[in-house]
Amino acid sequence: MPCNEEFQIDLEKAFKDIAKGTLRALEEDCKKIAKRQEKWDRFYLGLAQYYSQASKDPSTCVGCVLVGTDNRVHGLGYNGFPPGIEDTVERYNDRPTKLSLVVHAEVNSIISAGHLAKGGTLYVYPSFALPPICNECCKVAIASGVKTIVGFVADENDERALRWKDSIAIAKMMCDEAGINYRGLVE
Ligand SMILES: [Zn+2]
Repeated sequence: MPCNEEFQIDLEKAFKDIAKGTLRALEEDCKKIAKRQEKWDRFYLGLAQYYSQASKDPSTCVGCVLVGTDNRVHGLGYNGFPPGIEDTVERYNDRPTKLSLVVHAEVNSIISAGHLAKGGTLYVYPSFALPPICNECCKVAIASGVKTIVGFVADENDERALRWKDSIAIAKMMCDEAGINYRGLVE
């Protein structure tokens, strides 16, 4: 075998080894990034869960955290009536009245984030399906420039999952069409 041919074979092997090593290093980096992302996802979902406790809604307390592209919290919200609208027990217990007056947690967090919602991520607690958002909030999220929505994987046995099924199906269609990412974590 001429020596230059042998050299070529060795060179080929060396390139393959380098490629393999680079790929392995990339895989390791991706795993580390994913792990770090999951840690922050859980932290923000925990914050959304904590914030949901401020809601006076007797059936569903929802909390939402809006994280900007700079990884800072710019918006916090829970489901409640707008300022100046009396949030009495009677109004909350009358479902049609409640639904006509309540502002969802996601919209409240987007309002508090203002222009910083653009490109941001919504963390919503609890989830009834994926994406973890109703069609009305989804419209506002897309219009404000939100790019990602994160929640926990929903409990299918939750009766609220059935109640919000149609609305979430529309939200899913809108997310897919507008290129909004969403993901669910196992709680
Ligand atoms: Zn909503």
